[in-house]
Amino acid sequence: PLQEPVAIVIFGATGDLTSRKLFPALFSLFAGEVLPQRLAIIGVGRSSWSDAAFREHMHNQVAGNASYSAAAWETLAPRLRYIQQEYTGDYAPLAQRLEEIDAELGLEGNRLFYLAVPPTVYIPIADGLGASGLAAEDHGWSRFVVEKPFGRDLASAESLDASLHTHFAEHQIFRIDHYLAKETVQNILMLRFANTIFEPVWNRRYVDSVQILAAESIGVGHRAGYYDSFGVLRDMFQNHMMQLLSLCAMEPPSHFEADRVRDEKTKIYRSLRPFHPQRVQSDLVLGQYAAGEIDGAAVPAYRTERGVAKDSQTPTFAAMRLYIDNWRWQGVPFYLVSGKRLAAKRTEIRIQFKHVPYSLFRGVLSEDIAANSLVLGIQPREEVSLEFQTKSPGAKMCLRPVQMHFDYHHGTAGPVLEAYEKVLLDCLLGDQTLFWRQDGVELCWGFLDPILQGCENDPGKQPHLYTAGSWGPEAAEGFLPPWEKR
Ligand code: NAP
Repeated sequence: PLQEPVAIVIFGATGDLTSRKLFPALFSLFAGEVLPQRLAIIGVGRSSWSDAAFREHMHNQVAGNASYSAAAWETLAPRLRYIQQEYTGDYAPLAQRLEEIDAELGLEGNRLFYLAVPPTVYIPIADGLGASGLAAEDHGWSRFVVEKPFGRDLASAESLDASLHTHFAEHQIFRIDHYLAKETVQNILMLRFANTIFEPVWNRRYVDSVQILAAESIGVGHRAGYYDSFGVLRDMFQNHMMQLLSLCAMEPPSHFEADRVRDEKTKIYRSLRPFHPQRVQSDLVLGQYAAGEIDGAAVPAYRTERGVAKDSQTPTFAAMRLYIDNWRWQGVPFYLVSGKRLAAKRTEIRIQFKHVPYSLFRGVLSEDIAANSLVLGIQPREEVSLEFQTKSPGAKMCLRPVQMHFDYHHGTAGPVLEAYEKVLLDCLLGDQTLFWRQDGVELCWGFLDPILQGCENDPGKQPHLYTAGSWGPEAAEGFLPPWEKR
């Protein structure tokens, strides 16, 4: 277990993220005896909840879970507190209350402030914490954890960062990308750099294209208001897709250490070939879902979802072809595809290798020789799969594609940490390897801003409608890998 005592202070404790992700993850870590014994989990919000109401609500979130243990709950419950607080209000009483809880539970002033609130209140909360001395690290450490979105363009990302840095140093700011905490995403670096056989072919000489797919079958759900003003490029490409891209494309860092890893990612973002206006036409397809069916059930069109403007032009699907201008990747297209209400929930990275340079089987084989591919499955199945050609049994010379397949969970002895468990654990350990650094955030916005402006200022660049439950608009098929055939 971790030894350092800590108060985990969650702003927005009455909300969706806390109920569905944060508290279940904290409970699971506590039940697994990972969290320190000297601990407080303090919910903060505008709602007037009592400690008892907070405990009851949190109990309901975990009571039916596999990791639930009544004994763990009995030990944890007295460490759960709730404090009512206006986000733009005076933080002196909050600071006072935290001191009292520290004294009561024998904590030593270490505090993790987790913002599970809408981004509009990030700055007021940082200001409040700063003004009341809670950002200072005089007695124990103080860390500030934020979720995406980190701004909605380069200018707002810079201004958010300037505000946060008024009170917190970079080592105190943890910008979460929970995709990075998924086991198979972390496995990308292990696969590439803990083996000798992949890296020699991981370049423009052998790789034909790299395809990164993050498909969701869900729609916008209760986050329609936020989503309609952001769209898929801001919601998925600025963060998760760029992280997957950099993990696939980066050079090996000299050491697996937060800043060395992030230095290498940053070099990839710096090498992205800028999109000129004509490439917005040729290398980017936007879509928006129309009504359709998912798993046999009718689902509504995006524009008829609650909270979405009836004439919304917000894209819910994007397919982008981009290039990395460096020696390793010159000329290799990277296809990034993400959308909502697609045929299946699937996140995967496919390294598509080149065809054999010359076929000695010409005239013998009736079919073309398919190229090799390596697929890294991230969700729902966590797997690695290498496809290659073998001879079909029998007298006739015939090929058949076969797969060598590794299921990430097969034969694992220990428990696998859920993404938010990993994120919270790393925040408590102060390890920023899996978190965004501000230079990366800004470089990605710098890449996306002209694309967003190109789309938003061009009346001809409206999203193509696609049927919910399909693999996206037909317009994307021309340069997209045939996902639907898989
Ligand atoms: P939420 O449920 O809409 O809001 C969380 C809490 O914030 C609410 O319970 C409310 O608490 C307070 N709040 C809501 N609207 C507010 C407003 N306009 N001004 C001030 N306070 C407000 O949000 P969430 O879904 O939990 O998401 C929290 C953060 O995590 C957001 O930044 C979101 O982008 C990010 N995120 C969420 C998810 C997810 O799955 N939910 C996934 C990735 C990232 P009180 O009224 O009690 O103060």
